[in-house]
Amino acid sequence: MNVQLRQITSRAVIAVGSNLGDRTATFAAAVRALAEADGIEVTAISTPIDTVAVGADGENPAAPAYLNAVVLIRTTLAPRALLAVLNGIEHDNGRVRAERWGDRTLDLDIVDYAGMQSSAPDLTLPHPRAFERSFVLRPWLEVDPEAVLAGHGRVADLVAGLDTGS
Ligand code: AMP
Repeated sequence: MNVQLRQITSRAVIAVGSNLGDRTATFAAAVRALAEADGIEVTAISTPIDTVAVGADGENPAAPAYLNAVVLIRTTLAPRALLAVLNGIEHDNGRVRAERWGDRTLDLDIVDYAGMQSSAPDLTLPHPRAFERSFVLRPWLEVDPEAVLAGHGRVADLVAGLDTGS
C-alpha cells in the first residue's frame, strides 16, 4: 500500500533586527539562511526600516540604530525546532549573546506561530513585547494587512493605537 503522509505546515512570523556591523548584508544573509533551511519556506519579506534602539529603560538614541523587518514563513518545524534554527542563524551571523538588551549583529524572534499562545520562558508566544513594538507591528502589517496577534487582536488596530497613543 502506498500511503502518502502530508506534512503539516504552519504559518509563522519572524522579526529580524540588526544594529551592529553591515546591517543590510546581515539582513540579506538571514533571509537567505531562512529560505534555505529545511522545513522553512519564506512567503513574504517586509521593507526593512531604520529604528532607534530600545533598551531596558526604553528608547536609547545613543546606541546604534536598528534595521528591523518582518519575514513571513510557512514551516513544517515545531515551534522549538524553529527557534533552534533561528538561534543557529544568529550564531552563524556573529551574534554574541552578551546581555539581554545589548547590541547585536542579528536578532531573530518568533513573533507568532500559528496563533499559538504559550507562557514558557524559553518560547513565549506570541512574543511578549510584539503588541507594543512599532518596529514589529508596522512591517508585519505591510506584508499582511489582515494580520491578527493572538490575545491582542488585529495588527491594524494595534498600529492605529500606536499612532493615537491609546
Ligand atoms: P533575545 O536576547 O531577546 O534574543 O532573547 C532570547 C531568549 O528569549 C532565548 O533564551 C529564547 O529562548 C527566549 N524567547 C522566549 N520567547 C521567544 C520568542 N517568541 N522568540 C525568540 N526567543 C524567545
